This record gives sequence, structure tokens and C-alpha cells, in this order.
Amino acid sequence: MLDLRTGLRMIPTHVADHINTTTGLAITEAGGRDTATWRPCPKCHARTLVGLDDTTAALTATTDPRLLTRSDEATAWLTGRTTYQLHPHGPRLRRRNHWAITGHPADTVPVVADHTCSQPLGTPIPASPTKEQHGDRIPY
Ligand SMILES: [Zn+2]
Repeated sequence: MLDLRTGLRMIPTHVADHINTTTGLAITEAGGRDTATWRPCPKCHARTLVGLDDTTAALTATTDPRLLTRSDEATAWLTGRTTYQLHPHGPRLRRRNHWAITGHPADTVPVVADHTCSQPLGTPIPASPTKEQHGDRIPY
């Protein structure tokens, strides 16, 4: 399917979901990769996890690789930081809304917050997991 607005070839959502489920490739409906990657912050050089925050109409999210508790997530929202659920396949980031926050609290699923220089929240995710140790999964 071709998106007439962008000229990009689109993959139907159910096909992208099937590919992601069966292969773990984490592709978007536009056929791009939807995998978060480790990058240093250009300002403070802290290690961040950067990726798209959804499969459609996605924005790039730059997050602190630190797992939040319910209290940490409340603090994040009160200070204007968006939170994301971290999915192990890929890994992928998904923006959280009030339904996700109340239905799947931060203590029950891995949640990270927007990166803010020198203001970390939560518990650090172990540094530099190797593919030999964990494959494409982040150990949490
Ligand atoms: Zn920074």
C-alpha cells in the first residue's frame, strides 16, 4: 500500500504486527526500523535510549535508561516529563497515557522517562548489555 501524502510504501498494521511478533524485527508501518538505540546525550554525554514512541505519527523519544516506580512516574509527569513503556523486543519505546498508567502501573511493567540532563529518575538499567549475554533483549 502506498501512502499518497508521503509517497512512502505502507505496511498494513496487522502485517507489521505479525512480522514483529514472529521475527522480533520491530518494524513500523512505513517499513522503517522501530528499534531504540543507545546514544550519548549531546549536552551532558549521559547514556540515553533513543527510539520512536509509536508505530504511526511517532516522535523520537530520548529517554533515561532507568526503570521507574509508580512514585517516580508521578514525579516525572508532575515535572512535565513524558514516560514510555520499554518493550524488550527491539527494544521499543511506547508513549504512556492515562489508560496505560492506571492499567499497567510502573511497578508492573518496565517504564522509563524523557531524558533531562542531570535529573535522573528511577533505578539504572544495567550498563552495556552484550548481545552474547542477552541477544536483542535488555535484561530487566
Ligand atoms: Zn543530557
